[in-house]
Amino acid sequence: MRFGMHLSVSGGIDRVPEIARSVGADTYQIFVDSPSTWRYGEWHAAKVERFRERRKELGQGPVVVHTGYLINLASSKTDVLEKSLVALGKEFAKAADIGAEYLVLHPGKHLGTGRETGLHKIVEGLVRVMEGNPVGAPMLLLEGSEGSGTSLGVTFEELAFLVDGLAEKGHGVGVCLDTAHLWGAGYDISTPETLGAVLTEFDRVVGLARLHCVHLNDSLKELGSHTDRHAYLGEGRIGLTPFHALVRERRLDHVAMILEKTGRDLKHCRELIGALKALSR
Ligand SMILES: [Zn+2]
Ligand SMILES: [Zn+2]
Repeated sequence: MRFGMHLSVSGGIDRVPEIARSVGADTYQIFVDSPSTWRYGEWHAAKVERFRERRKELGQGPVVVHTGYLINLASSKTDVLEKSLVALGKEFAKAADIGAEYLVLHPGKHLGTGRETGLHKIVEGLVRVMEGNPVGAPMLLLEGSEGSGTSLGVTFEELAFLVDGLAEKGHGVGVCLDTAHLWGAGYDISTPETLGAVLTEFDRVVGLARLHCVHLNDSLKELGSHTDRHAYLGEGRIGLTPFHALVRERRLDHVAMILEKTGRDLKHCRELIGALKALSR
């Protein structure tokens, strides 16, 4: 099991490995561009080269890229769908450039067309994008949703529908679970027993071998609220107990554990990752 955090690339991609080292992150998640715009800048080739070298020297990984928030492959609006397909292609290409292992995507929102139509549209859109992917593109991880509004991929059954649908078309994808999203969706992970049962259920429906990343967030909202308000570990409604069990769960040894709420400053980041690693011992 590897531990890390979402880190900012605002100082340049080449500086990320050093920042990660300074805060004790062995794995990390980044945005390749501002997540709330449709704009995608170009990488600076020399910086990418430095990133790849330094990351390798420091033995860091997996590197996870989180896609932008505007992408919605389930949208019934043609312009949004077209923009989403282009944007996701760019995300795959930019993540491949830096040698990232995983690309995390929120499955999408059906906006009133219905869950089944939406899920089918997501599979269709993903097949279109992934057929154009460069060699060495990262594995796509579909992130389970808290179920706000018309968002899809909320239940394990919906995630399995997407993963299985893509596998049938020859595209192997995985899953990312977010503890605050699970909680918002109504999966009670608040005790070691209920957490264990939720993981067993995920294993039965989707398969734990397909789980590659877990976002560790506490939540400001109650169980089943279908809202997503992240809190630092131990500062929300979920509490510290399940996280203690989660980072000692041997069935998740292959999973990258990523604190998603970036610390207020580097010192705070270091404290948060230190606390997480202490939980695992
Ligand atoms: Zn996410
Ligand atoms: Zn998340």
